[in-house]
Amino acid sequence: MMRWRIGDVVVTKVVELEAVGGSRFILPEATREAVLPIAWLRPHFADDEGRLRMSVHALVVDTPRLRVVVDTCIGNDKQGRAIPGWNGLQTGFLADLALAGYARDTIDAVLCTHLHVDHVGWNTMLVDGKWVPTFPRARYLMGRVEFEHWREQRENAGQRAVFADSVAPVFEAGLVDLVATDHRISEELSLVPTLGHTPGHVSLRIRSRGEEALITGDFLHHPCQMARPHWASSADHDAAAAQRTRLAMFRRLADTPVLVIGTHFAGATAGRVVSDGDAWRLAVP
Ligand SMILES: [Zn+2]
Repeated sequence: MMRWRIGDVVVTKVVELEAVGGSRFILPEATREAVLPIAWLRPHFADDEGRLRMSVHALVVDTPRLRVVVDTCIGNDKQGRAIPGWNGLQTGFLADLALAGYARDTIDAVLCTHLHVDHVGWNTMLVDGKWVPTFPRARYLMGRVEFEHWREQRENAGQRAVFADSVAPVFEAGLVDLVATDHRISEELSLVPTLGHTPGHVSLRIRSRGEEALITGDFLHHPCQMARPHWASSADHDAAAAQRTRLAMFRRLADTPVLVIGTHFAGATAGRVVSDGDAWRLAVP
């Protein structure tokens, strides 16, 4: 189990799925030939053939007063997903969460960095044919802009299904707090707007006892985008804005002690951004 300490805050990674290769649909420019020359990606983030390693995981952020799950993966039993392998999943995610010390009824808050399919799934679980909140004691924090965008959108049938089974049930249960993109959650935790991938996308800043970390969400999907910031994700809502965000964030983080914890990063998962020629790389411990 992977765990990091930032002052008084402990962050724990709970994995739902890991994959090697098959990521062309999300980062079309990251071909094997294009990835191989980025040597520092191996072994954590790519294999010797240039295939990207990726992960779908939740990050539990445990502060002295608040226990927060950041992004809730794909979930079990979901249907109507655009990626066939994400339909009808049966993983042991909740058991793994409990094994890590975080039974679902001990969670105080859920933060969705954005409302894509792989960030909201475990918001709900199927009980007697109905979608019910997985974390009954939690407030579910969602960006107001993000929520309204996905509630109104009609074009994307897959995302409509996601909203219906993983967002609407917690909203209707009265558990959702719609927040601004720079919302302060607690003494240690605040949101950072990282727009572009989606209209209301946020990252999470953790500060405690002079230490700092950032949970990325999907303003980048993979560390290869530090070396190649112009590699857009096919899922970016506004690719130009997403690229501006990546550049601004890499410049801000570069050569600082901020621990960057990736929402889809495999292997070491976290590291520090360092300047590398006219781009950046992720230095892992
Ligand atoms: Zn994602």
